[in-house]
Amino acid sequence: MTLKFIPILEIPFIKTTRKQFVEMLQSHIDKQEKSFVVTANPEIVMHAHQSDEYKKCLHKANYITADGIGIVKAAKIIGNPLPERVCGYDIMIDLFHVSNKKNYSIYLLGASQRVLQDTVEVVKKKYPGINVAGHQNGFFDWKDPSVVQNIKKTQPDLVFVALGFPRQEQWISNHLDHFDKGIFIGVGGSFDVFSGNVNRAPEIWRKLNVEWFYRLVKQPSRWRRMLVLPKFAMVILSRKVLKKS
Ligand code: UDP
Repeated sequence: MTLKFIPILEIPFIKTTRKQFVEMLQSHIDKQEKSFVVTANPEIVMHAHQSDEYKKCLHKANYITADGIGIVKAAKIIGNPLPERVCGYDIMIDLFHVSNKKNYSIYLLGASQRVLQDTVEVVKKKYPGINVAGHQNGFFDWKDPSVVQNIKKTQPDLVFVALGFPRQEQWISNHLDHFDKGIFIGVGGSFDVFSGNVNRAPEIWRKLNVEWFYRLVKQPSRWRRMLVLPKFAMVILSRKVLKKS
Protein backbone atom coordinates (compact mmCIF):
# COMPACT_ATOMS: atom_id res chain seq x y z
CA MET A 1 0.00 0.00 0.00
CA THR A 2 1.43 3.41 -0.96
CA LEU A 3 1.07 5.96 1.79
CA LYS A 4 0.20 9.54 0.99
CA PHE A 5 1.36 12.48 3.09
CA ILE A 6 -0.13 15.97 2.93
CA PRO A 7 2.26 18.72 4.08
CA ILE A 8 0.76 21.49 6.20
CA LEU A 9 3.36 24.14 7.13
CA GLU A 10 6.11 21.56 6.47
CA ILE A 11 4.48 18.94 8.70
CA PRO A 12 3.59 15.83 6.66
CA PHE A 13 0.17 14.47 7.64
CA ILE A 14 -0.73 10.93 6.71
CA LYS A 15 -3.80 10.67 4.48
CA THR A 16 -5.74 7.97 6.27
CA THR A 17 -8.91 7.14 8.11
CA ARG A 18 -8.93 6.20 11.78
CA LYS A 19 -9.77 2.58 10.90
CA GLN A 20 -7.03 2.20 8.28
CA PHE A 21 -4.50 3.79 10.60
CA VAL A 22 -5.22 1.50 13.54
CA GLU A 23 -4.99 -1.54 11.21
CA MET A 24 -1.62 -0.30 10.00
CA LEU A 25 -0.32 0.11 13.54
CA GLN A 26 -1.55 -3.39 14.35
CA SER A 27 0.47 -4.79 11.47
CA HIS A 28 3.57 -2.98 12.82
CA ILE A 29 2.99 -4.53 16.24
CA ASP A 30 2.60 -8.00 14.76
CA LYS A 31 5.89 -7.58 12.90
CA GLN A 32 7.52 -6.09 16.05
CA GLU A 33 8.36 -2.92 14.11
CA LYS A 34 9.09 0.24 16.06
CA SER A 35 7.02 3.30 15.24
CA PHE A 36 6.66 6.88 16.48
CA VAL A 37 3.23 8.46 16.09
CA VAL A 38 2.34 12.13 16.59
CA THR A 39 -1.31 13.18 16.72
CA ALA A 40 -0.97 16.84 15.80
CA ASN A 41 -3.43 19.69 16.22
CA PRO A 42 -2.95 23.29 15.02
CA GLU A 43 -1.17 24.20 18.30
CA ILE A 44 1.46 21.55 17.62
CA VAL A 45 1.88 22.65 13.99
CA MET A 46 2.27 26.29 15.02
CA HIS A 47 4.78 25.39 17.71
CA ALA A 48 6.82 23.51 15.10
CA HIS A 49 6.44 26.49 12.75
CA GLN A 50 8.10 28.67 15.40
CA SER A 51 10.68 26.22 16.76
CA ASP A 52 13.10 24.37 14.50
CA GLU A 53 14.09 22.13 17.37
CA TYR A 54 10.52 20.95 17.88
CA LYS A 55 10.03 20.60 14.12
CA LYS A 56 13.03 18.24 14.07
CA CYS A 57 11.34 16.12 16.77
CA LEU A 58 8.19 15.87 14.65
CA HIS A 59 10.20 14.98 11.56
CA LYS A 60 11.51 11.93 13.42
CA ALA A 61 7.96 10.55 13.60
CA ASN A 62 6.90 7.79 11.24
CA TYR A 63 3.33 9.05 11.18
CA ILE A 64 1.63 12.33 11.99
CA THR A 65 -2.15 12.25 12.10
CA ALA A 66 -4.70 15.05 11.98
CA ASP A 67 -5.81 15.58 15.57
CA GLY A 68 -8.15 18.52 15.33
CA ILE A 69 -10.68 19.86 12.89
CA GLY A 70 -8.33 22.81 12.19
CA ILE A 71 -5.92 20.46 10.42
CA VAL A 72 -8.67 18.84 8.34
CA LYS A 73 -9.96 22.31 7.35
CA ALA A 74 -6.44 23.53 6.50
CA ALA A 75 -5.88 20.51 4.25
CA LYS A 76 -9.10 21.31 2.42
CA ILE A 77 -8.14 24.96 2.00
CA ILE A 78 -4.79 24.08 0.45
CA GLY A 79 -6.56 21.72 -1.96
CA ASN A 80 -5.25 18.43 -0.54
CA PRO A 81 -8.08 17.14 1.65
CA LEU A 82 -7.63 14.64 4.47
CA PRO A 83 -10.48 12.15 4.95
CA GLU A 84 -11.17 12.76 8.66
CA ARG A 85 -9.76 13.58 12.09
CA VAL A 86 -7.59 10.84 13.52
CA CYS A 87 -7.21 12.00 17.09
CA GLY A 88 -5.04 10.69 19.88
CA TYR A 89 -7.85 9.81 22.26
CA ASP A 90 -9.76 7.77 19.66
CA ILE A 91 -6.64 5.92 18.52
CA MET A 92 -5.78 5.12 22.13
CA ILE A 93 -9.24 3.63 22.70
CA ASP A 94 -9.08 1.64 19.43
CA LEU A 95 -5.63 0.35 20.37
CA PHE A 96 -6.93 -0.68 23.81
CA HIS A 97 -9.64 -2.73 22.07
CA VAL A 98 -7.15 -4.39 19.74
CA SER A 99 -4.70 -5.00 22.60
CA ASN A 100 -7.43 -6.61 24.65
CA LYS A 101 -8.22 -9.03 21.82
CA LYS A 102 -4.62 -9.79 20.93
CA ASN A 103 -3.15 -9.68 24.45
CA TYR A 104 -0.68 -6.94 23.59
CA SER A 105 1.33 -5.39 26.37
CA ILE A 106 1.21 -1.66 27.05
CA TYR A 107 3.22 0.89 29.04
CA LEU A 108 1.53 4.03 30.35
CA LEU A 109 3.76 7.06 30.76
CA GLY A 110 2.45 10.40 31.95
CA ALA A 111 -0.17 12.37 33.92
CA SER A 112 -0.33 12.84 37.68
CA GLN A 113 0.15 9.81 39.94
CA ARG A 114 -3.55 9.78 40.81
CA VAL A 115 -4.74 9.98 37.21
CA LEU A 116 -2.21 7.33 36.21
CA GLN A 117 -3.34 4.95 38.98
CA ASP A 118 -6.98 5.46 37.95
CA THR A 119 -6.04 4.85 34.32
CA VAL A 120 -4.25 1.59 35.15
CA GLU A 121 -7.25 0.44 37.20
CA VAL A 122 -9.78 1.24 34.47
CA VAL A 123 -7.62 -0.45 31.80
CA LYS A 124 -7.33 -3.61 33.90
CA LYS A 125 -11.05 -3.67 34.64
CA LYS A 126 -12.33 -2.83 31.14
CA TYR A 127 -9.70 -4.68 29.13
CA PRO A 128 -8.61 -7.78 31.06
CA GLY A 129 -6.78 -9.12 28.00
CA ILE A 130 -4.26 -6.27 28.10
CA ASN A 131 -0.98 -6.86 29.86
CA VAL A 132 0.02 -3.61 31.60
CA ALA A 133 3.80 -4.02 31.39
CA GLY A 134 4.51 -0.90 33.41
CA HIS A 135 3.59 2.66 34.21
CA GLN A 136 5.20 5.89 35.34
CA ASN A 137 3.66 9.27 36.17
CA GLY A 138 4.64 12.24 34.04
CA PHE A 139 6.50 14.16 36.72
CA PHE A 140 9.85 12.37 36.71
CA ASP A 141 13.40 13.57 36.21
CA TRP A 142 14.23 13.12 32.51
CA LYS A 143 17.86 12.50 33.47
CA ASP A 144 16.89 9.48 35.56
CA PRO A 145 17.57 6.47 33.27
CA SER A 146 15.20 4.12 35.11
CA VAL A 147 12.16 4.95 32.96
CA VAL A 148 13.98 4.05 29.74
CA GLN A 149 15.50 0.99 31.40
CA ASN A 150 12.11 -0.15 32.59
CA ILE A 151 10.58 0.15 29.12
CA LYS A 152 13.56 -1.65 27.58
CA LYS A 153 13.24 -4.45 30.11
CA THR A 154 9.47 -4.93 29.81
CA GLN A 155 9.42 -4.62 25.96
CA PRO A 156 5.82 -3.36 25.66
CA ASP A 157 4.06 -3.52 22.29
CA LEU A 158 2.68 -0.01 22.84
CA VAL A 159 3.88 2.98 24.85
CA PHE A 160 1.27 5.69 25.45
CA VAL A 161 3.01 8.95 26.34
CA ALA A 162 0.69 11.46 28.03
CA LEU A 163 3.03 14.32 28.94
CA GLY A 164 1.16 16.97 26.92
CA PHE A 165 2.76 18.72 23.97
CA PRO A 166 5.59 19.58 23.32
CA ARG A 167 7.05 17.37 26.08
CA GLN A 168 5.68 14.06 24.82
CA GLU A 169 7.10 14.46 21.29
CA GLN A 170 10.42 15.67 22.74
CA TRP A 171 10.63 12.74 25.13
CA ILE A 172 9.84 10.15 22.42
CA SER A 173 12.17 11.74 19.90
CA ASN A 174 15.04 11.96 22.45
CA HIS A 175 14.71 8.35 23.58
CA LEU A 176 13.43 6.40 20.58
CA ASP A 177 16.87 5.11 19.63
CA HIS A 178 17.09 3.17 22.89
CA PHE A 179 14.23 0.87 21.95
CA ASP A 180 14.02 -2.01 19.48
CA LYS A 181 10.25 -2.33 19.26
CA GLY A 182 6.99 -0.68 20.28
CA ILE A 183 4.52 1.88 19.01
CA PHE A 184 5.28 5.18 20.78
CA ILE A 185 2.38 7.59 20.65
CA GLY A 186 1.79 10.97 22.30
CA VAL A 187 -1.76 11.18 23.65
CA GLY A 188 -1.83 14.52 25.53
CA GLY A 189 -4.48 14.70 28.24
CA SER A 190 -6.09 11.36 27.25
CA PHE A 191 -5.41 9.60 30.58
CA ASP A 192 -7.28 12.40 32.40
CA VAL A 193 -10.33 11.81 30.19
CA PHE A 194 -10.12 8.01 30.07
CA SER A 195 -9.89 7.73 33.87
CA GLY A 196 -12.92 9.99 34.32
CA ASN A 197 -10.97 12.85 35.92
CA VAL A 198 -11.77 15.23 33.04
CA ASN A 199 -14.88 15.09 30.86
CA ARG A 200 -14.52 14.86 27.11
CA ALA A 201 -16.86 17.03 25.04
CA PRO A 202 -20.24 15.34 24.54
CA GLU A 203 -20.69 13.72 21.13
CA ILE A 204 -22.88 16.51 19.76
CA TRP A 205 -20.07 19.07 20.35
CA ARG A 206 -17.59 16.74 18.66
CA LYS A 207 -19.94 16.20 15.69
CA LEU A 208 -20.31 19.97 15.29
CA ASN A 209 -16.49 20.26 15.38
CA VAL A 210 -16.51 22.54 18.40
CA GLU A 211 -14.71 20.26 20.87
CA TRP A 212 -12.02 22.95 21.21
CA PHE A 213 -14.68 25.41 22.42
CA TYR A 214 -15.97 22.91 25.00
CA ARG A 215 -12.42 22.51 26.36
CA LEU A 216 -12.06 26.28 26.54
CA VAL A 217 -15.32 26.64 28.50
CA LYS A 218 -14.32 23.84 30.89
CA GLN A 219 -10.72 24.96 31.30
CA PRO A 220 -10.70 28.77 30.76
CA SER A 221 -6.97 28.81 31.58
CA ARG A 222 -6.44 27.40 28.07
CA TRP A 223 -7.47 30.67 26.39
CA ARG A 224 -3.88 31.85 26.02
CA ARG A 225 -2.93 28.63 24.22
CA MET A 226 -5.89 29.03 21.91
CA LEU A 227 -4.79 32.43 20.65
CA VAL A 228 -2.62 30.45 18.29
CA LEU A 229 -5.68 29.10 16.40
CA PRO A 230 -6.53 32.33 14.50
CA LYS A 231 -2.79 32.74 13.79
CA PHE A 232 -2.75 29.24 12.27
CA ALA A 233 -5.77 30.13 10.09
CA MET A 234 -4.06 33.35 8.93
CA VAL A 235 -0.83 31.56 7.98
CA ILE A 236 -2.73 28.89 6.03
CA LEU A 237 -4.89 31.45 4.21
CA SER A 238 -1.94 33.69 3.38
CA ARG A 239 -0.01 30.73 1.94
CA LYS A 240 -3.01 29.87 -0.22
CA VAL A 241 -3.28 33.46 -1.49
CA LEU A 242 0.46 33.60 -2.23
CA LYS A 243 0.27 30.30 -4.10
CA LYS A 244 -2.52 31.62 -6.30
CA SER A 245 -0.88 34.93 -7.16
N1 UDP B 1 1.74 16.28 32.28
C1 UDP B 1 2.75 15.41 32.62
N2 UDP B 1 3.99 15.91 32.91
C2 UDP B 1 4.27 17.24 32.87
C3 UDP B 1 3.24 18.12 32.48
C4 UDP B 1 1.98 17.61 32.17
O1 UDP B 1 2.54 14.21 32.67
O2 UDP B 1 5.41 17.62 33.13
C5 UDP B 1 0.43 15.70 31.95
C6 UDP B 1 -0.74 16.37 32.65
O3 UDP B 1 -0.88 15.83 33.96
C7 UDP B 1 -1.87 15.98 31.72
C8 UDP B 1 -1.20 15.98 30.34
O4 UDP B 1 0.19 15.90 30.59
O5 UDP B 1 -2.32 14.69 32.01
C9 UDP B 1 -1.39 17.28 29.54
O6 UDP B 1 -2.63 17.44 29.17
P1 UDP B 1 -3.03 18.66 28.24
O7 UDP B 1 -4.50 18.61 28.11
O8 UDP B 1 -2.40 19.93 28.69
O9 UDP B 1 -2.29 18.23 26.90
P2 UDP B 1 -2.66 18.42 25.39
O10 UDP B 1 -3.73 17.39 25.12
O11 UDP B 1 -3.15 19.81 25.21
O12 UDP B 1 -1.36 18.13 24.72
